[in-house]
Amino acid sequence: MAQLTPTQREVLKALVDTAVPALQVDEDPTGFWARPGSAVGTDEVLAQFLTTQPEADQTAVGQLFDGLAQLGFQHQGRATREAMLATAMALAPEAAVALLTLRGASCLIAHSVPDPATGRNPFWDQYGYPGPQISPPTDAPYITPHVPADGEVIEADVVVVGSGAGGGTIAGVLATQGKRVVVLEMGRATSERDYRQLEFEASTTMMYRSGLTSTVDGNVTLLAGSTLGGGTTINWHNCIKPTAAVRREWATEHGLDDVDSPEFDRHMQAVLARMSATDQCSDLNGPHQRLVEGAAVLGWSHHVAVRNVDAATYDPVAAGYTQFGDPTGSKRGTLNTYLRDAYDNGALILTSTRADQVCVEDGRASGIAATYTDPATGQTRSVQVRATDVVVACGALETPALLLRSGIGGPAVGQNLYVHPSAGMFGVYADEQKGWWGPPQALILDEFRDLGDGYGFLIEGSQYYTGVMAFQLARRDGKQAKEAMAKLARMSLLLFFLRDHEGGTVTLDERGEAVHTYSLADERDVAGYRAGVRALAKLHEAAGAEELYFGPTPVWRRGEDLDAWLDAMEVLPIGAGGTLIGSAHQMGSARMGTDPTRSVAQPTGELHDVAGVWIGDTSAFPTPSGSNPMLTCMALAHRTAEHISGQREDLPAAALSLTDLDAAEKALDNAPAA
Ligand SMILES: Cc1cc2nc3c(=O)[nH]c(=O)nc-3n(C[C@H](O)[C@H](O)[C@H](O)COP(=O)(O)OP(=O)(O)OC[C@H]3O[C@@H](n4cnc5c(N)ncnc54)[C@H](O)[C@@H]3O)c2cc1C
Repeated sequence: MAQLTPTQREVLKALVDTAVPALQVDEDPTGFWARPGSAVGTDEVLAQFLTTQPEADQTAVGQLFDGLAQLGFQHQGRATREAMLATAMALAPEAAVALLTLRGASCLIAHSVPDPATGRNPFWDQYGYPGPQISPPTDAPYITPHVPADGEVIEADVVVVGSGAGGGTIAGVLATQGKRVVVLEMGRATSERDYRQLEFEASTTMMYRSGLTSTVDGNVTLLAGSTLGGGTTINWHNCIKPTAAVRREWATEHGLDDVDSPEFDRHMQAVLARMSATDQCSDLNGPHQRLVEGAAVLGWSHHVAVRNVDAATYDPVAAGYTQFGDPTGSKRGTLNTYLRDAYDNGALILTSTRADQVCVEDGRASGIAATYTDPATGQTRSVQVRATDVVVACGALETPALLLRSGIGGPAVGQNLYVHPSAGMFGVYADEQKGWWGPPQALILDEFRDLGDGYGFLIEGSQYYTGVMAFQLARRDGKQAKEAMAKLARMSLLLFFLRDHEGGTVTLDERGEAVHTYSLADERDVAGYRAGVRALAKLHEAAGAEELYFGPTPVWRRGEDLDAWLDAMEVLPIGAGGTLIGSAHQMGSARMGTDPTRSVAQPTGELHDVAGVWIGDTSAFPTPSGSNPMLTCMALAHRTAEHISGQREDLPAAALSLTDLDAAEKALDNAPAA
């Protein structure tokens, strides 16, 4: 990969120090104001990150840096640099997307990268973020992955690609039923031993594309897991049922008849039990208390979240770091449940192993061709799994890419990429909010879940992550961004996500890598997004917030006209160059249905065009779930596993001994009303 030239490096450093500038203030006991982003190595980390980007992107960024260098950008003072960037952004939309991304990334890295000497980021002292609280355990991990020899051919009944919510569940159920299962996971093997409660480390080792990626149009930042256990290892573990309207829609319009019947309750019950789902570990931190207070004033409906947590080891002090992996082991993702079932029943689990292609012989699946990359050396080995059933469960961002590389799945592959468009708003309160304590999502506000057509939005809390928060607070002016970050201790972040009517696409670039596009264009979705923003503002206002921060809009201050503030922001575009869209939920890009021109798989999960290839993840959702997708994904995966084997699952003995079934049943009853 090409390194930046010395001049390009100077431009990058100047860009970083424009986004996170050194400022002189009288009182600066922690050095927060005087410290520029480059003082914590942000430019070096960013330069390294750029070398991992596609060649075309590197070339474009290099040209942008060269252009700025010719104008002497790197030699100017802060105000001139800000003005030069504003001009560049106004002249070319591509430059605007690139510069805003670099600005956001600079803020993200500056506020999350730890100093190797202390293990802490020096900016944290300003806003009182305590950083890591729990040391990881040191005993041996439960699962030892199989490391393949170069050219190894493995024989199996079923090969499952992806170890997340969908793939992990299917692997566990089928291995327990006696199938010879192989799991291929492109993320690294991780376990509680690796979870040091550090955002930057966790992002770069456990998140899809290092946690810094967006749709190619710059409209949506994309967050997904990429590690053993997939999204369930890094997610915020709430378990929310799909509504009756969603289940009815999937049955009547997409042919998944049994989903609108007690049969689907059985699948949900099985996975809730295996995950030890409970409503007893949902402590409310500052942001959630504000959510309750605001909802009480406004009379809006909200519920305690059911979460997949082992109550015996749950610790609210550690729960606030859950996106960085859970060192307590209380998180009941597939890593600690279904993947263990698979492993205990003889499954081979390969990590750092990327499926390149699905192999097909005589119209039926015959296995997977994959590449193992040694995490220590970067050396690669080819590996083949021969199996008559292939489960594709790479997550909705990658499943279509594997199908497209294999030339299977039909015309709907990569269409209908739903993302549950999401946006967060910060309220600044009089007192410290301590959002890093307790679960990130302990309550669900469901007042607007159905705006009339079965579509609407949920309001929830957020993981406390100083880097991503700095990314969200990155403004056009670096001074304003720093002023906002200085208040982080008193901020509560609440977010909404929208059940979207219209999806984006997944295609392949010239290297066979997934390319994602998404525009919030459907007028119902635009209206839903606007309504979500308004609801967040009203909630914070009702809870007593003194100021509101949202995207690049000016700050709202108590006493100002809130509706006028909201009206004014509606001139901004939604997405690139305007207000942010985030997505932690991707679905639908290889969906199930009856029509092979509009869906990829039959209602059973098996492809329309190739026998023995099954879609096992959120890609299979016919439309977005409208609820956080893990529970629905796992229940559908449980259903697909039974279709593959033709056997109903008896709950395995190991699951019963690990699971408090009573709590799970209670949890199902208490889950937000369908
Ligand atoms: C930050 C965050 C918080 C979330 N919080 C919640 C929550 O509280 N509740 C909830 O219900 N949902 C939550 N979600 C969403 C939920 O985690 C996902 O919807 C769910 O994990 C998706 O399951 P999946 O099986 O489709 O894919 P994933 O769980 O993403 O698993 C896919 C796996 O496939 C691997 N893979 C991809 N391509 C290949 C390949 N070619 N070869 C081999 N392996 C490959 C990936 O590395 C990944 O590990 C959250 C998501 C995020 C990102």
